Amino acid sequence: MTQTVRTRIAPSPTGDPHVGTAYIALFNMCFAKQHNGKFILRIEDTDQVRSTPESETQILSAMRWLGLDWDEGPDVGGEFGPYRQSERKAGYRAFAEQLVDSGHAFYCFRTPEELNVIREERKAAGLNPGIKGDLERPQDEVTARLAAGEPYVIRMKVPDEGVCVIQDMLRGTIEIDWAQVDCQILLKSDGMPTYHLANVVDDHQMQITHVIRGEEWINSAPKHQLLYAYFGWEMPVLCHMPLLRNPDKSKLSKRKNPTSITYYERAGYLPEALTNYLGRMGYSLPGEQEKFSLDEMIASFDIKRVSLGGPIFDVQKLSWLNGLWIRENLSQEEFMRRVQKWAFNETNVAPMIEHIQGRVDTFADIAPLANFMFSGMLDLQENDFEHKKLDRAQVLRVLQFVLWRLEAQRYWSKEAIFADVKALCGAMDIKMGDFMQPLFVAVAGTPNSWSVMDSMAMLGPDMTRARLRHALSVLGGFSKKEAKRVDKEYRVLLKEID
Ligand code: GLU
Repeated sequence: MTQTVRTRIAPSPTGDPHVGTAYIALFNMCFAKQHNGKFILRIEDTDQVRSTPESETQILSAMRWLGLDWDEGPDVGGEFGPYRQSERKAGYRAFAEQLVDSGHAFYCFRTPEELNVIREERKAAGLNPGIKGDLERPQDEVTARLAAGEPYVIRMKVPDEGVCVIQDMLRGTIEIDWAQVDCQILLKSDGMPTYHLANVVDDHQMQITHVIRGEEWINSAPKHQLLYAYFGWEMPVLCHMPLLRNPDKSKLSKRKNPTSITYYERAGYLPEALTNYLGRMGYSLPGEQEKFSLDEMIASFDIKRVSLGGPIFDVQKLSWLNGLWIRENLSQEEFMRRVQKWAFNETNVAPMIEHIQGRVDTFADIAPLANFMFSGMLDLQENDFEHKKLDRAQVLRVLQFVLWRLEAQRYWSKEAIFADVKALCGAMDIKMGDFMQPLFVAVAGTPNSWSVMDSMAMLGPDMTRARLRHALSVLGGFSKKEAKRVDKEYRVLLKEID
C-alpha cells in the first residue's frame, strides 16, 4: 500500500493572519486533496513571548473564512495531537538529549558576550559569523557545570566543510556549503525547543510526507536534513514555494500592501476571490484561465505547474478579480445576503449606534457620517492633513509613532488604544486636540467625526493600521535619512513612556 500523503501548515501565532500563510496553506491543501491525503494545521508557538491566543484565533478563523479547511488541527483534533507545540513541550527535551547521547549535539555554556567575541573573530577571519567552532567543552567540565546548575543550551553538531545537497520538488538539487550553517540551538536555556527541533520532531511524529513552505526556509533545510539523519528518520519531501512580492518586486510587506487577511475581509473582498488570487500566485490552470474556484484548482492541481518567478501580489489585480466574482458568481439574493453579513450585522452596527444617534436628525444623515466605517482604504490627499499647529514633520511623526505603538498592541480595545495615544501625546508634548487631528483624517477621512479611538476599536487592528500606513504614504513618508532619526526619537519617547 502506498503511503498516505500528509501535508501541513505550521503558522506561528505572533501577528495578523498573513496572506502568505494562506497562500502556503492553499498549496498544501490542494496537494493533499489531489492525492486523497490529509492536510494538517499545527500551531508553532514555542516563542512564548510573541505568541498570543488572539493571534491563533484570528489565524484559524481567517483560514476558515477562505475555505482552507484542515483535517487535523488544534480545534478539530486528530490522532497525532496535540497540534499546538506548547502542549507538546514535554516531549522535545528527550529528543535533544538523545542527540547529545549519540554524539550529534552538545551542551553549550557560552554567554552572549562570549558568543559575540566568537562572531567577531569569525567575521574578521572572513568566515560566516554564525555560531560554530570553539563551543564544546570536555565531558568532565560539562558534567561539573551541569551539576552546578549553570544555564546551558543544547546545540546540534554541523560539519565544518563540504556541501549539503538538498532535493526540492520544484527546484531540483540545491547545494549549500556546510560552512554557512551554524551549530543551531535545539533546546533553549528555558527548556523550550527552537523552531528547528520542534518542527522536525513534529513533522516526523505527525507523519508528514511533504513539507511545502516558503522559500525563506531553504537555508534551514540543511539543518533539518541533518536532524532527520541523526535521528535515523525518513525525511519528508521538501518543496519551497516562491515568496509573494510587492509590485516593485520586493518581498511582500505591510508597508507597501495590506498583508492581513482580516484587512481584506473588512475591506469587502470575497473569500472565493482572495483564494483564487492566491492560487494565481505562481500557479496557472491549464489554458491560463484567470478565474477559478478552489474545487477547480484542486481538480486540476499539479505542483509542477508552480513557476518560480516571484509572484506579485497586486491589490488592484485582486480587486479586478474580486469584481469578476461579484458580478459573475453572486445571484442578487446572494449578493444581498453577503452584504448584509459583511456590513449590516449586529456586531458591526451595534457599537456605532451610540455615536450616530445623537448626531442625526433623520436616518438619511447616517450615510455621510458613517461611510468611513464601511470603506476600505480612504481616498486621501496630502492637503487633507494640513494642520494649523503642526508642520508636516510633526504630523508624520504623530502618525508614525501611533502606528508603531499600535503595531505592538497585542490586545485591541478602546482602553488600550487610548492609553497608547495619551502616553505618546504627553511624551511628545503636543496638545491632545492637535495630536488627534491627523489620526482623525487618517482613520475617518475627516476631523469632524466621533471619537477616533472608538472608530479604531470598531475598525479593528488591521484596518486601522492599514489606514495609518496609507496616510503616511499619502504624505510621502520619511526619507531614509529622516527615518533613522525618527526611529531614534521613537526609542527615546518609549523610554519616557514605559
Ligand atoms: N512556524 C514556521 C512559520 O511560521 C513554519 C515554517 C515551516 O513550514 O517549516 O512559517
